[in-house]
Amino acid sequence: MTALDTMRCSVIGAGRMGTGIAHALLLSGAHVIVVDTDPERVEQAMQRVHEMVQASARRGVLTEAIESVQGRLSGDVGIEAVQGCGLVVEAVPEIPALKAEILAAVESVLSDDAIIATNTSSISVTLLAQPMRRPERFIGLHFFNPVPASNLIEVVVGAQTAPTTTELAEQLVVAMGKTAIVVNDSPGFASSRLGVALGIEAIRMVEEGVASVAAIDQAMTLGYKHPVGPLRLTDLVGLDVRLGIAEYLATSLGARFEPPQLMRDMVSRGELGQKSGQGFYTWPQ
Ligand code: NAD
Repeated sequence: MTALDTMRCSVIGAGRMGTGIAHALLLSGAHVIVVDTDPERVEQAMQRVHEMVQASARRGVLTEAIESVQGRLSGDVGIEAVQGCGLVVEAVPEIPALKAEILAAVESVLSDDAIIATNTSSISVTLLAQPMRRPERFIGLHFFNPVPASNLIEVVVGAQTAPTTTELAEQLVVAMGKTAIVVNDSPGFASSRLGVALGIEAIRMVEEGVASVAAIDQAMTLGYKHPVGPLRLTDLVGLDVRLGIAEYLATSLGARFEPPQLMRDMVSRGELGQKSGQGFYTWPQ
C-alpha cells in the first residue's frame, strides 16, 4: 500500500512529460485521468502509456496484471474531469499565463484538501500561486525527462506552500519509487539553474571555437563522469525549451544567463535538437 494506492489523480497536458508522469502515477497504484484540450493528444498519450506499461511488465517491475494497471487510465478533454482527484499535476507548455489559467480552473473544481502541483521547469511556484484560492495546497513537482529513466523529482516549495503539503508531496515521490530533493522556490530551482548554466557556457565555447561539439561533451562525460554532455543534453531537451528557460533566468537572475547568439540563431533556423532532427548533432527521425 503506497500513498498513491487507489488515489484518483490527473495530469493536465498530454505531451511528453504528461505521458511519463501518468505512467509513473499508474504504476504506483493511482487511477489516472489524462486531460488535454486536443483529443488526438489524449488518444496518443493513452496509447503511449499503454505501451510504457507493457514495457514495465517486460522489465518485471509490475506487481499486478497489465490489464489491471491499464484499466486505471482514462482520458478527457475537459478540466471538469479532474473533479474528485486528490492530486492534479499540471504539465502544459511553459507559458505563465496559460499555466495560471489552468491552475485556477483546476482549483475551482477540486475539493479544498486536494494537492495541485506544477511540473514547470523554471517558473516561480510562488508567482503561479498568486491568484490561487488555496496556495498552501500548491507545490512544484518537477519531473525529469524521460520520466521512467529518471529517479529524481524536485519538490519546489513556494512561499505559501504548507509544510503538510511538502510532506505529502515527498510521500508521493517515494510512492512513485523516486527520490525527492526539496528546493525553496527560486528561478530555475536547483536543477534547471545548474543545468542551463552549464549548457549555455558550453554553447558559448562552441561560438568562440574553443573546441568541437564532441570534444566539449567529452570534457564532461569522460572528465567529470556526466552521463551525457551539455550539448547533447541541450539537443535532447530542445534548444527552444532551454532558450526559454535561459531568457527567464536572465531576467530574474542576471546577465550571466543571457542566451548566446548561436543558441538564438539555431532556434530561429529550426535547429531544435532531437525533435527537429538537427541541433548540435544530427538525429535520425
Ligand atoms: P509538450 O508540448 O510535449 O506538451 C504540452 C501539452 O499540453 C500538449 O499536449 C498540449 O496540447 C497541452 N495543452 C496546451 N494547452 C492546454 C490546455 N489549455 N489544457 C490542457 N492541455 C493543454 O510539453 P512538455 O515537454 O511535456 O512540457 C510540459 C511542461 O513540463 C512544461 O512546463 C515544461 O517546462 C515542463 N518540463 C519539460 C521537460 C522536458 O524535457 N520536455 C522536463 C521537465 C519539465
